[in-house]
Amino acid sequence: MLKAAPWCLAGWLVGTACQLQQASLWSLGVILAACGLSLLLGLIAWVLHTRITHISKFSEVAKWPIIALVFFGLALSCVNARALWQAQHRLNPLLEGQEILLLGVIASLPQQTDISVRFRFQVQSASKLNQASSVVVPEWIDLVWYDRESAEMMKGNLWADLKAGDTWQFSARLKAPHGTLNPGGFDEALWRWEQGVMATGAVTTSKRAAVPQKIKSSWLYPIAQARQYVRSEIERKLLQGDAQSRSLAGVIAALVMGDQAAIQAADWDLFRATGVAHLMSISGLHITLFAWVMAAAIRSMWRASALGGSRLCLRWPAPHVALLAGTLMATLYALFSGWGLPSQRTVIMLWVVCLLRLVGTRWPIFWSLGLALWVVVALDPWAMLQPGFWLSFVAVGVLMLNESVQSPDRTQLEDGGSGMLIKMVGQAFRTLRNLLREQWVITLALTPLAVLFFGQLSWVGLLANLVAIPWVTWLVTPLALLGVLAPPLWLVASWALQPLMTLLTWMASLPGSVWFLPTPPLVLALLAMGGGLLLLQQWPWILRSWGLLFMLPIFLWQVPKPPPGQFDLWFADVGQGNSVLIRTTHHALLYDAGPLYSETSDAGQRILVPLLRRLGVKLDRVMLSHRDADHTGGAPAVLRAHPQADLWSSLEEGHPLSTLRPVKVCMAGQKWEWDGVQFELLHPLASDYAKLAGSNALSCVLRVDASQQASSKKSHESQKASALLVGDIEAAQELAMLQRLALQPVGVLLVPHHGSQTSSTNGFIEALKPHWAVVQAGYLNRYGHPSTRVVQRYETQDVPLSISSECGAAYWQSTQPQELSCEREVRRRYWHTPKRKESRSPE
Ligand SMILES: [Zn+2]
Repeated sequence: MLKAAPWCLAGWLVGTACQLQQASLWSLGVILAACGLSLLLGLIAWVLHTRITHISKFSEVAKWPIIALVFFGLALSCVNARALWQAQHRLNPLLEGQEILLLGVIASLPQQTDISVRFRFQVQSASKLNQASSVVVPEWIDLVWYDRESAEMMKGNLWADLKAGDTWQFSARLKAPHGTLNPGGFDEALWRWEQGVMATGAVTTSKRAAVPQKIKSSWLYPIAQARQYVRSEIERKLLQGDAQSRSLAGVIAALVMGDQAAIQAADWDLFRATGVAHLMSISGLHITLFAWVMAAAIRSMWRASALGGSRLCLRWPAPHVALLAGTLMATLYALFSGWGLPSQRTVIMLWVVCLLRLVGTRWPIFWSLGLALWVVVALDPWAMLQPGFWLSFVAVGVLMLNESVQSPDRTQLEDGGSGMLIKMVGQAFRTLRNLLREQWVITLALTPLAVLFFGQLSWVGLLANLVAIPWVTWLVTPLALLGVLAPPLWLVASWALQPLMTLLTWMASLPGSVWFLPTPPLVLALLAMGGGLLLLQQWPWILRSWGLLFMLPIFLWQVPKPPPGQFDLWFADVGQGNSVLIRTTHHALLYDAGPLYSETSDAGQRILVPLLRRLGVKLDRVMLSHRDADHTGGAPAVLRAHPQADLWSSLEEGHPLSTLRPVKVCMAGQKWEWDGVQFELLHPLASDYAKLAGSNALSCVLRVDASQQASSKKSHESQKASALLVGDIEAAQELAMLQRLALQPVGVLLVPHHGSQTSSTNGFIEALKPHWAVVQAGYLNRYGHPSTRVVQRYETQDVPLSISSECGAAYWQSTQPQELSCEREVRRRYWHTPKRKESRSPE
């Protein structure tokens, strides 16, 4: 039985991993066939094993791979069946964008900012507005309610009345879950799919819509209600109107109840830069650390009272009590902190390992961990794609390994009595030393994983963690948690937090504190992980140091760059806004920096800065076409992360961004050359500035041409190894350029003004005749971009159109101007919104 376990486990894990790569789901027939085939295979293996003993040579060898294959097939069909069932609950595409009247229960702690409030909603009934007949919508919907649509409502302070567990009625516009998709970036659709949320929506408060109203209160979701109460108490106790108290109150709220939205954006930046963000978000890692600290504390208390001669303590061995109590406390903590998926997974892992130890199975620790892994993956297959899951798995593993190495010091228990106090102090010191050592091992073990998942290595982070882990888990968190019983302790916790914040701020300011590494290919990543495992073994150092060698390639890896004279473009998927990265052999320019999403998040910090890091790009220049927020929203974050880049734009004098960097004004005729690639500005003219034209009309228009010599082999194509980026220019500017310049055809065109019908005139498209036209516009955006008429104009001129909401990030190279690759095609999975055939809604 035990011999088969690793084969079953390996089969199941590989089967699940393969299923997660599927672009579309199997049909029911295929699922049943695969399941039947696997079972048949299992039957054959069983017969071979039990009945036909005389051909045992064969059966002994073939048995194990067959068992692995059986579990591989079973995992594939089970996960497919489950996903198929969930896909049945997709939002009907015909209901997308329609106003729907929803009745249901608020199912989570509402997250409020100055302009919006977000919460999960469990729908009980739904109907179209002003129609009696009901419609079917997904049960779980993530709703957002914006201020700009509900200024009236705010007067009645309805937001303060939103409580978890209460029944409400809203009208809302629903969408299928759809996030931006960039290389290596966060997959929002997967994140919601994993939680069973099959639609998102915005509450509408137009004249037509039904007024949001509370129907009744209830005691459903008691934990969410308790959390809401605690959060308001923390704010009451700690908020004093200044920025510092707001920052500290936010961190305390996050530590007590996992309310990550409470932490200020600047503090998040600080925590990320010093590598301690995991401590502030109640993640799997945090819960594991909490369980471990609690277990250690209880173990030393138990031993101390055993030294004092307590009978109870002598009967129950300290490690068992500590393990059980630690796991129990971690479960309670996870429950109170919102019971998010990462916490659930960790708690399950902790319980599996804990129970196996308690019932006294003498399984090797790796097998207990394997079982824990299997239980989590069987319950939640999509966890395999979450870095947090692997981080907490490794953390649990390292703790258990270390735990098993330490032998209980029984000798001390027996000679109690004289010098008891000295022994207790000695015990406390030993515990502290062990804790420090274990924490060091965990930090080391997690370092290669952090490099692989987050592309950063922070020397400061190693030091910061050494101080911050014990400080936060031993002092600040317990104080903050006890504050629930005695609120003045929150004040003490905030005092304890202050020196840590000061220290972290100082550490983050050290030069070269963080290294960013581009994403390595999978082979190198696996090699490095193997190296990490080797380092963790209890072998002589001469053997273990080979691990370092295996890890070396990921530090040296470089993302391939365009050859001299050539360039490539990444059209980032930033939602409703523009952002294009241009790379030559040794230089890079970012054209526009995407939109602002809310007061705490923008395309710069959420998408562009991480993307630039993954590509290993250092920007030489940022060009902001014009001042509109959908082009400049992410600029502050990008400029801060790339201090060496200069800034070109048509921004007016005194614009807030000019405080970050001197602005070089865009002017038609400006030119430069990078690695043989020509850059030229075609618009605006000095006279346009003098006319005080609108912001769209002042968009900087940039033309990029590959070197003629480099492309001379295919002479007829050479002129098309070029790109034109035009911002939000409109028909008048297109016409002016056509009259003033002999516009040459281009390989790729950034469609003006996101495909609005103010732009893309027929003459302009005809003169440029691009191989590809790229629209950067948000999914079901409220402007109706791209307009149907504009889409038709490109179609009639045989210019293929790529729209960012359908394509995700797009990649184009001057060496292959006819080709454009879409991130959404490369990474298409069954949880993404299926492709739509029908025409887009008119403007
Ligand atoms: Zn725009």
